[in-house]
Amino acid sequence: MDGKRITVDELEEYIEDHPYKELVREFITTAFTAGAIVSVDRNGCFRVITKVPQMECIKFNGNDIVGTYMSIHGKGFSHNDLAHTWIATSYIHGQTGEEIFSDGFAIGDFPLSDGFWNAIHKSIDLAGICPFCGKRVGIENLKHVGFADKACEDCYPAAKKKIEFPGWYN
Ligand SMILES: [Zn+2]
Repeated sequence: MDGKRITVDELEEYIEDHPYKELVREFITTAFTAGAIVSVDRNGCFRVITKVPQMECIKFNGNDIVGTYMSIHGKGFSHNDLAHTWIATSYIHGQTGEEIFSDGFAIGDFPLSDGFWNAIHKSIDLAGICPFCGKRVGIENLKHVGFADKACEDCYPAAKKKIEFPGWYN
């Protein structure tokens, strides 16, 4: 997770000119109350890591799934009224012994106005669903495709062909 970790007391200085200041304040304050780790990157975008016991079931790309990773865009960005969510993974950095967090595949985007708890509940609910066929197969049965997409075993070949077309990563 890039960015500087902040405390609830430091939140105000980062939302000063945000167009959705009230919504961001409410959302992130609730995230702090829920024990989330919040950081801010150099563009003023928030990263919120929330550990979710129900999601700690498997490894993803060799890392442990710990819960959800949300990002809220800073001022001057589009869609900064949404919380963009991913599966959050963690690993222990060998040399420092520090727990490092990163994002796995995307889950979905939720309006800040729905609040933190709704976003968490919806992301737990949607995390194990294949977005191509809508089947609930569980996180452990989804495969990573493209940068941040996921597909079930049945949809994987077609999804891979569709998303990972020649030169897709350029
Ligand atoms: Zn599918």
